[in-house]
Amino acid sequence: MVFGGFAAASLAARIDDAKPALMVTADGGSRMGKPILYKSLVDESLRIAEHPPKHVLIFRRGLDPQMPVTAGRDVDWKEMSQQHAGAQVPCTWLESSEPSYILYTSGTTGKPKGVQRDVGGHAVAMAASMRHIFCGHPGETMFTTSDIGWVVGHSYIIYGPLIAGMTSILYEGVPVRPDPGVWWKIVQDHKVSVMFSAPTAVRVLKKSDPAWLKKYDLSSLRHLFLAGEPLDEPTHQWISEGLGKPVIDHYWQTETGWPVLSAMPGVEKTPIKFGSPSFPVYGYDLKLLRESDASEAGDDEKAVVVIEPPLPPGCMTTIWGDDERFVKTYFSTFSKKQVYTTFDWGIRDRDGYYFILGRTDDVINVAGHRLGTREIEEAVNMHPAIAECAVVGVADPLKGQLPMAFAVVRDAALVADPAARMKLEGEIMKTVDQQLGAIGRPGRVFFVTLLPKTRSGKVLRRSIAALAEGRDPGDLTTIEDPASLEQIRNALSSTQTKGNP
Ligand code: AMP
Repeated sequence: MVFGGFAAASLAARIDDAKPALMVTADGGSRMGKPILYKSLVDESLRIAEHPPKHVLIFRRGLDPQMPVTAGRDVDWKEMSQQHAGAQVPCTWLESSEPSYILYTSGTTGKPKGVQRDVGGHAVAMAASMRHIFCGHPGETMFTTSDIGWVVGHSYIIYGPLIAGMTSILYEGVPVRPDPGVWWKIVQDHKVSVMFSAPTAVRVLKKSDPAWLKKYDLSSLRHLFLAGEPLDEPTHQWISEGLGKPVIDHYWQTETGWPVLSAMPGVEKTPIKFGSPSFPVYGYDLKLLRESDASEAGDDEKAVVVIEPPLPPGCMTTIWGDDERFVKTYFSTFSKKQVYTTFDWGIRDRDGYYFILGRTDDVINVAGHRLGTREIEEAVNMHPAIAECAVVGVADPLKGQLPMAFAVVRDAALVADPAARMKLEGEIMKTVDQQLGAIGRPGRVFFVTLLPKTRSGKVLRRSIAALAEGRDPGDLTTIEDPASLEQIRNALSSTQTKGNP
């Protein structure tokens, strides 16, 4: 499954890695009432890919009346279902450790990783978490407002509720259209008992009248779960009080497939602390290790969140087609200890509650969508005017983080005046749209003639991000050329005052 918002080049990279036998797509999707055509994007990705599948099965929603069809390759869903109506298809029995699915996720390199999950462990984790964390019972309804192209959708739109014998609602739309009550109307009309969403959606709702939260009958709703990015305390409090229901922040990753930190109301009712995803879930031997020497951190001390192997059932079993990369990526952070790294910073307070403080690597989280800054950098670098660039995540009140690009132009004349800068900025954004998809588009592109780097040539992304957020750039003893930081400062202030888009 691939998220529909990716551009053809990103889709082609995933096709070449997965080497699928068959591709299934709709003719299009819809966003804010506007059709987004998928088929032409799929065609373009298959043209670029080196390992295109032999057939593409297409479900026509009538969103693309002029949809191009390739004879012999494209197959129509409705025709096929008529042809095979009533066919008896036996179950295929698999070993519990055989792969069930691959889901691509971003890391520090530009090449996405195919997270591979097994069959048996995955089913066990889904069934257990539906009972002990989400408290969803057979015959009830679950509403997860994610996209099935992200792990939350895989686990808790599809597998989790269906394994638990629940009805699952798939909803295509945004929380404020046609009005900010649309989700709560769904809860009322379908008697939803478990709901799962993301902090970014709640922050969008927070901009509208809280009366919308009270307009519909929410008596069926037991809990609202939120995950995917840090849930700030004010947002947590606002939604809890507005709904008058327990709102449970829980923390996990594509790699784990189910919650790592969460309250477990199906086991024990523990008080919720705003801003905390509570405690480690059973199965996870969670530790907070000091970055310097892998020793265990004390209370209230910021450290790296790791899991002592073995990982519990449901977690990734390897990276598709690359076992070595699996070990190297996830189990090699500390030379002294072979532990699974989450690449997140965290702290534990005196009461044992955990708080997640953001990533230790160059992964950013835009409106709950995980993106590697390297992927965006590679897309920016595709523009012929750009020699190199650094992309960093900068705090954003609505989306959590926004990517910002700092680009070195090959010819300074190209950015000599504000009009030229604006033109090039627009072109670069378009390039990212085409290469990666609009989801990776930088909020701003700033132009400089050199990037701050260490003497060994590593771009100081943490320092750039700090400057962009108005913070101290940190330890700069290893910087090659301090003037580069001045350039970042100047770019940030001058472009802002000139009012670029
Ligand atoms: P993804 O693999 O796309 O689900 O992204 C996983 C990353 O999102 C984690 O490594 C965290 O950085 C972040 N994340 C997910 N849930 C939470 C949460 N409840 N609180 C803080 N960060 C979270």
